[in-house]
Order: sequence, then structure tokens, then C-alpha cells
Amino acid sequence: MTSIAFIGLGNMGGGMCANLAKKGHDVSAFDLNAEAVARAVEAGASAAQDIEQAVRNAEIVVTMLPAGKHVRQVYLESGGVTDCAAEGSLFIDCSTIAVDDARSVSAEVRKLGFDMVDAPVSGGTAAADAGTLTFMVGGEDDAFERARSILDAMGKNVFHAGASGNGQAAKIANNMLLGVSMIATSEAFNLARKLGLDAQTFFDISSKASGQCWSMTSYCPEPGPVPAAPSNRDYAAGFAVAMMLKDLRLAQEAAKSADAAPPFGGAAEAFYTALDNDGHGGLDFSAAMKRIKGEI
Ligand code: NAD
Repeated sequence: MTSIAFIGLGNMGGGMCANLAKKGHDVSAFDLNAEAVARAVEAGASAAQDIEQAVRNAEIVVTMLPAGKHVRQVYLESGGVTDCAAEGSLFIDCSTIAVDDARSVSAEVRKLGFDMVDAPVSGGTAAADAGTLTFMVGGEDDAFERARSILDAMGKNVFHAGASGNGQAAKIANNMLLGVSMIATSEAFNLARKLGLDAQTFFDISSKASGQCWSMTSYCPEPGPVPAAPSNRDYAAGFAVAMMLKDLRLAQEAAKSADAAPPFGGAAEAFYTALDNDGHGGLDFSAAMKRIKGEI
């Protein structure tokens, strides 16, 4: 049993914290939102009144926060984690943030004598609740080894991607590929339909041919061929347009600082920005299909 502080008990963190408590860890939970803390207590954690109370006896601190500015604030501001944590504790940030932010926060934390890994996740709230997330981890070998058993309690795949920030790099490169492939899959279904092929026939062929990809076979944006996909539920998210857009923006930001210039990643960012601006940020990102068909 490990003593863990969990900060950020939202859509993702709530389920992750519950899984740590369920596996027998001693979890002290904190969020600015009192209802989220109450849910964590129902799931077996104990309530902390502030960051100090959450972290002071913890061996491991896990955070699951909205964006880079929250991560910086929670770790580095006065009264934050580095001010109050016990000596030798390890920090695991599971939030999706910019690669540069992950690297700079981790460097500052290390200067203060703590170890930190970035461990963003793939998988949505269902995987967070079920404990089946995939973690992509950036950090030193020994920090990764310490983090692994805690991550195993919340996920089914844990990968060490290399040095600090590499977890975030893996996450945004993967999600850029996903955004591009979802739009391309939608374009292919639309073209096939306009040329006289019905969706199931095109799916049967392309899913066994070289166009096969996850966006088609696991999450088909055209209603019908994959019954569990959000396209069969009026594109209820799932993984919302706004969340995809966040990751595509992070990918573009990282690409600029790495001089990588991905034109299709940029086009996908512009496509999802337009969907979001038109009021569709809450739809599942596979609603790309509706935009390609001209329905929204
Ligand atoms: P969320 O907004 O539901 O939860 C974030 C929580 O952090 C909130 O409860 C908020 O009150 C809390 N918080 C913010 N600032 C705080 C502070 N200073 N101190 C304490 N608590 C604070 O977000 P989410 O959907 O759980 O996502 C969390 C992270 O996971 C994001 O970085 C997101 O990009 C990433 N992610 C989300 C999904 C998804 O499907 N929702 C999937 C993969 C990755």
C-alpha cells in the first residue's frame, strides 16, 4: 500500500483516483470543486482541505488537471505541491499539456529536489473508470520504475517513452495522427458514397485493404458498420471536438518549436477550429463526417 495524494478529480481524475483507492492505496484527494472531493470520498479516498493536507504525508503525488497553467500553479506556486511535499516524494502528472511546459515544470521541480514524470493518457472517461488507460511516460529510468506500479493500478498499458516531456510528445503525435485519419476516413466514405458504393460495402473492402485504420475499424465515422461508435449515437462524445482541438493545437505548438511543420496536422487543426467556432465543440470528433457531408 502506498500513500498517494491525488489532485484534480474531474471527468478523468475521479475514476483514476477511485481505482487507486480500490486497489488498497491510501489516497488523500483534493480538488477546488467540493463535489468532486465528495465523490472521491465515496469511492474510498480521504478528503483533503488543501494541497498541503493532501501531499504532506504522501510518497506519490498524482495530478490530473485541465492545462499547463494549472499544472505550473499546483506544483510551483506558493502553497503548492513543491512547498509542502515530503522529501523524496515522486510526482506523476497525467494531464495533457505542452511538451515545453512538461519539460520546464519538471526541470524546476528537480531543482527543488523532487522527481517527476509526465504520464499523459490515451483513453477517455470510460477507460479512466475501468482502469484500462494507456500511459505514455517521460522521465528518468528510476522515476519511471517508481511510478509504474501506481500507473498499473489505473491502466492496462504503461510505456516509457524516454526523457522528460517524451510522454507528452508521444501523446500529441498520436492524437495528431488520429485527427488527420478521422478526417481522411470521413472523406473516403463520402467519396465512396458519391461514387455509388454503400457504406457497408466500402467498409468491408477498405477495412481489409490498405486504407484500414483505427478511425475506420474501431470508431467508424459513418453510422452503421461499427455499432459501438459514436456515429450511431448522433455523435454524442466520446472524445469531443474541443478535446481533439486542444491536442491538435498542442501538436502545432510543439511542431513550431521543433521545426517540424506538419501540413496535414495544421489542416486538421483548422478543420476542428471551424467546427468548434460553429458551436460543435461538444460533439464527438468523428462528427468530422457530418461536416464533410455538409450536414453541419
Ligand atoms: P476536468 O476539467 O473534468 O477535470 C479537471 C479537474 O481539475 C477539475 O475537477 C478542476 O476543478 C480541477 N482543478 C483545476 N485546477 C485545480 C487546482 N488548482 N487545484 C485543484 N484542482 C484543480 O478535465 P478532464 O476531462 O478530467 O481532463 C483532465 C486532463 O486529462 C486534461 O489535461 C485533458 O486534456 C486530459 N484528457 C482528457 C480526456 C477526456 O476524455 N476527458 C482524455 C485524455 C486526456
